[in-house]
Amino acid sequence: MDHVQTVVVGAGVIGLAIARHLAVRGHDVLILEAEAAIGQHTSSRNSQVIHAGIYYPRGSIQQVLCLKGKAMLYDYCATRHVGHARCGKLTVAPSADRVGELQALVARGAANGVDDLYVISADEMRALEPAVACAGAMVSPSSGIVDAPGLMLALLGEAEAAGAMLALNARFLRAEVTPNGFRIDVADAAETQLSCANLINAAALGAWDVANGIAGLDPSLIPPKNLAKGNYFSISSASPFSALIYPMPLVGSLGIHSVQDLGGGVKFGPNMEWVDRVEYSVNPDLRPVFEAAIRDYWPGLPDGALQPDSAGIRPRIWGAGQAKREFEFQGAATHGLPGLVQMFGFESPGLTSCLAIAEHVGGMLLNEGT
Ligand SMILES: Cc1cc2nc3c(=O)[nH]c(=O)nc-3n(C[C@H](O)[C@H](O)[C@H](O)COP(=O)(O)OP(=O)(O)OC[C@H]3O[C@@H](n4cnc5c(N)ncnc54)[C@H](O)[C@@H]3O)c2cc1C
Repeated sequence: MDHVQTVVVGAGVIGLAIARHLAVRGHDVLILEAEAAIGQHTSSRNSQVIHAGIYYPRGSIQQVLCLKGKAMLYDYCATRHVGHARCGKLTVAPSADRVGELQALVARGAANGVDDLYVISADEMRALEPAVACAGAMVSPSSGIVDAPGLMLALLGEAEAAGAMLALNARFLRAEVTPNGFRIDVADAAETQLSCANLINAAALGAWDVANGIAGLDPSLIPPKNLAKGNYFSISSASPFSALIYPMPLVGSLGIHSVQDLGGGVKFGPNMEWVDRVEYSVNPDLRPVFEAAIRDYWPGLPDGALQPDSAGIRPRIWGAGQAKREFEFQGAATHGLPGLVQMFGFESPGLTSCLAIAEHVGGMLLNEGT
């Protein structure tokens, strides 16, 4: 049976960032990916926004990792030539009676360490973004966009250059605890069995199945599974905006906003829909809901211009009507199994935070001495 020091389950942006972080520090790493290619799920089905870190509760792990991750990601993209743009984000107040809420958002951001936010008037906004109708806007200069597939390729390339290996079509099936770590069964062509000292569950939407497959793990520690789908619609013409345009935030979602791509195109989304399975088709019947939401800030959206684009699913550990929960890391201090790191609920801003998350996971293993 082959032995590797560290097995990372999942080749999304977080699993790849962790694999890279560990490999460049001398870990012997194997990445198991169930699909035939990397990044086929959440990491390539999102808004690709580099979030500033305005909304997460002060001092929360999500806020700390977002702020740190944002800085790390801009630096990484610049030095590794990964496509990105610090295009800024404008959160718009639809009417004069809501402009005061923008100042409250500025204060909230400042309390979280995002100290470059400011409010502009409707006239200033018209000069910046003539297509947008609003009574005022909050400017977030440090928000941006990143080419997520390009980022994943860069992370994988560096991990492999440092000796990591990637196994595609290799689904983690089950594991049992051994005196030196874990014995793993992989559902691949060869029905591989291997052993490892460290096991990192970065399977996102598959994280619950992976956790349930670990014999010896207390099942009561596995948080509830909730799936929150986000659909996108796009237009075929070029983006009428230069920055990201966001409505006022909602509970559990940032609302149907505009998302530029680096080629000058634009899509709109995501909405929020609780679902019970992973399925990515976009229902065209959602078009009127999207049209109404977009026309709140872009009245010039032409009739019939919106086309179903894509969808992603947020892996959530909180459900409808429940309080939001943060990213959940579980190490030996939680479950008593040295070398096992489990991650649940890595929805937004997981892309922004991926490099900081990787560092955090590296620190968890280091503290365990594995
Ligand atoms: C609609 C939407 C919009 C978002 N927008 C943003 C945004 O603008 N900015 C931002 O920062 N974040 C955003 N996010 C969050 C971000 O996309 C995620 O936090 C991030 O992509 C999660 O990465 P991951 O590697 O954990 O997950 P994934 O990319 O889903 O990777 C998990 C991998 O594990 C594999 N896997 C699953 N089970 C197994 C198994 N048993 N064996 C082997 N492999 C397995 C899967 O095939 C997959 O490749 C958004 C998310 C959604 C859904």
